[in-house]
Amino acid sequence: MENTQTLFDDTESNVSMDQQTAAQIEGLTKRVTQLESGSQLARQIMSILDLDVLLAQAVDLIRTQFHHYFVGVWLVSDKRDFVTLQAGTSHDDDGVPRQGLRIPMTASSSIIKACKRGVYELVDNLASSLDFSRLTLLADVHSELVLPLKEGERVIGVLDILCRRVSAFAPSDVEILQTLAGQLAVAIGNARRYGAEQNRRRLAESLEQSGRELSSSLDLHEMSERVLQVLAPVVSYERGSVILQNNDSMRIVAQHGFPDDARAKALVIPIRPGDVYEQIVASGRPLLLDDVTRDPGWSQVPWLALHRSWLGVPLVAKDKVLGIISLTRREVAAFSPEDATLVSAFAGQAAIALENARLYNELSSAYQTLERLDKTKADFIEIAAHELRTPLTVIKTYTQMLRSRPEVKFDELSAKFLDGVLTGTNRLHRIVNSMLDVTKIESETLKLHKKSIQVFDIIEKIKLEFEDALKERRLDFQVATVELLPLIFADGELLYKAFYNLIVNAIKYTPDGGSIRVDGKILVADKDVTGVEVVVSDTGIGIDPEHHRMIFEKFYQMGEVAVHSSGLTKFKGGGPGLGLAIAKGIILAHEGNLWVESDAYNERLCPGSRFYVHLPV
Ligand code: ADP
Repeated sequence: MENTQTLFDDTESNVSMDQQTAAQIEGLTKRVTQLESGSQLARQIMSILDLDVLLAQAVDLIRTQFHHYFVGVWLVSDKRDFVTLQAGTSHDDDGVPRQGLRIPMTASSSIIKACKRGVYELVDNLASSLDFSRLTLLADVHSELVLPLKEGERVIGVLDILCRRVSAFAPSDVEILQTLAGQLAVAIGNARRYGAEQNRRRLAESLEQSGRELSSSLDLHEMSERVLQVLAPVVSYERGSVILQNNDSMRIVAQHGFPDDARAKALVIPIRPGDVYEQIVASGRPLLLDDVTRDPGWSQVPWLALHRSWLGVPLVAKDKVLGIISLTRREVAAFSPEDATLVSAFAGQAAIALENARLYNELSSAYQTLERLDKTKADFIEIAAHELRTPLTVIKTYTQMLRSRPEVKFDELSAKFLDGVLTGTNRLHRIVNSMLDVTKIESETLKLHKKSIQVFDIIEKIKLEFEDALKERRLDFQVATVELLPLIFADGELLYKAFYNLIVNAIKYTPDGGSIRVDGKILVADKDVTGVEVVVSDTGIGIDPEHHRMIFEKFYQMGEVAVHSSGLTKFKGGGPGLGLAIAKGIILAHEGNLWVESDAYNERLCPGSRFYVHLPV
């Protein structure tokens, strides 16, 4: 400002401009242009949000507008242990790498000095300076200006400018470039934040995608492959694998970037005390190796190319480490703690999906075993029932013959004994028949002989059969509105069996003096009669809702099997647990439905049960 004032101060008129003033003006003009191009440059780079593009353009613009020989940007690593040349440009193609050069923070160099002190370093003559070691390939450079790039008080890197002339940087240059460095630092900060935001979004998207993809598969191998696929765009790696723990070894289940041979597919790594796998399994935390050759816990698979960086992330589900995701890269220190965090986010999802797949596999193999056992049981029942039926028929026939002989008929005691044998045999016969019914229902070989029938007739017939038992147990039996039901097309004999079982249960599970009802209702949909509903209700002990489904399974009985008393119509006289399975099988074979409603099981309060039968007309 002072200069400008002097310059335009024309109180002394007619003063010819001497040479000094001319030089001043020239200097000022140069400064103005520089300032202009500086602010123009700042505007240009401020709008770039891609860090790589930003740096490449920035070094290019600075070099061309300020006519320097080399301009580079070095950035400090996350761990602040070295700086890396992120972008660089020089006047001619001198073969010097423009990216990736690294200087450790411990080195003595003007770049490191500027980084550490946070103030610019100016070297007027590199020839007399000892610390110019890194760009010795650059010919003929003599002065260097290193400007710290600061975000607040934190140095994030430096802007490095080299010039062929000795003492090339005037204080005014330094001033302008310092302003520019300040703006560049802001732009870098913005681009980084934007990049981080982008990464976060990409991560969220990938996580969402992987969640969707992973939950669509239950195949361990396929799922692990997908984990590696979705991971690739988020954290770049050269070799990746999903390794699951199997007792004391790690077994590879999916891999990317491995040599295409059988060894890679069947890779099994034994877990040794203190090795990287054991460390991860024990800690449940990711492990990052910058250089595997320096880690005692690492053992290199001999036929795999040496990759120095390794990132191992545990797959943890329900506090248990199932295995790890293992990623490698050829170069040293390729993975950052941020990468470990990113992979962990995926690993969390992957582990749950893998655990589900494992449980599913376990379940399905258990299911297969059960199915096999069930088949064996069904076969056994069928054979046993068949084998029992023939001798039973023989016993029954001979007993009946014996019973009708005069010497027995007129001997009261013998007649009573033989009646007992006959009752028992009949009961056995019924059970054996039920067993055969169940096997037919199970194997779906139940044949329906359909005719037009009245449900009412069936119920009346059953009522008649139990007349004595109802009287003996003082049970009131009401059949209401069933006679109004329309004819249905069904197998009368089988429906008899189904309702017989429902009614016999109602009798068995209702205490003396209770009542049983059978109600009918016509089912209508869209003004059309679609079927009939028959409800068998009792005032008995009821059934706990948790058993409502299971009681229809064959051989299912609530309570202890050993303590049940058997008697066809005795209170709580348990049977073999086949009645409801048969009834359900028969109703389902008619394309109908059978279910129970009951509030609770309570022998004192007797809440009662209602068995609903729906049958199409
Ligand atoms: P079971 O031969 O034992 O009677 P079921 O298959 O007919 O076999 O019935 C299965 C179980 O369902 C019975 O053991 C009983 O516990 C329960 N149950 C069936 N019907 C009734 C009912 N009306 N009231 C209470 N419990 C019932």
